[in-house]
Amino acid sequence: MVATLRLANKVAIITGAGNGIGLESALAFAAEGAHVVCADINPAGADRAVQLISELEGGAPKALAVVADVGKEADIKNLVAKAVEEFGRLDVMFNNAGIMHPADDNALNTEEKIWDLTMNINLKGVWWGCKYAIEAMRKNPGGSRGSIINTASFVAIMGAATPQLAYTASKGAVLAMTRELAMVHAREGIRLNNLCPGPLQTPLLMNFLDTPEKKERRMVHIPMGRFGEAIEQAKGALFLASDDSSFITGTDFKVDGGISSCYVTPT
Ligand code: NAD
Repeated sequence: MVATLRLANKVAIITGAGNGIGLESALAFAAEGAHVVCADINPAGADRAVQLISELEGGAPKALAVVADVGKEADIKNLVAKAVEEFGRLDVMFNNAGIMHPADDNALNTEEKIWDLTMNINLKGVWWGCKYAIEAMRKNPGGSRGSIINTASFVAIMGAATPQLAYTASKGAVLAMTRELAMVHAREGIRLNNLCPGPLQTPLLMNFLDTPEKKERRMVHIPMGRFGEAIEQAKGALFLASDDSSFITGTDFKVDGGISSCYVTPT
């Protein structure tokens, strides 16, 4: 592998690699030389990511598909163990998998089971991802080193009158948790950052915004006048994963088309 590639010889795990941001990131990381462990709850999704990596132009490093539900600690432990067993180290952990449940609503209507499910996947899953990644990164040959990226959301930093209470709370907690972990591990060469995507054209949001009215209700607030693309998030994640961001830790990295800086949108 050519040494000038931004992730040459690095080993990266991506959760939710079967679709959307995770899939685009798997392809982008592999194109930059990483061995990518593609984890997804959906086996076909994980396999598809590995297949697409193998079809990359110019050849790609070896990738591995692992079926894992990030809502289960044992699955994440096994995922990290498999990555290290296969490739000997772990450099990048992209805790990307998350859900937005259609029954997630306001304080009065959200059922406890929806709250618990959302917290379990979006928050606890990220905690476990950090925990097992940090353990593995500490044992890296050559010394402790790594980059952990946790996917939050622009809704973690702004309020919306279209409530998804559990989702918003889970993402806010990811922001706070990541910041603290970044401080705890800063002196050992492990960086942790949040990726805060704006609203995107991925199935996660588009399945939720299933009428033109629902889409327009959001679109009017987006300064750039369009939903983002998953590849635009992948490029942000790639920056945070690579040594290009070597002095960046504990940040909330916004890739949101300006939405979180906006009072009045341009006409
Ligand atoms: P997506 O629905 O397109 O893809 C998510 C992938 O995660 C799927 O392949 C799915 O099978 C997998 N997955 C779901 N639950 C899982 C679990 N328990 N364990 C392992 N894998 C699981 O979603 P996306 O739009 O690419 O979103 C990725 C992340 O970005 C999520 O954390 C989401 O909250 C966040 N995000 C998305 C948007 C958006 O507008 N799409 C905006 C802000 C933040």
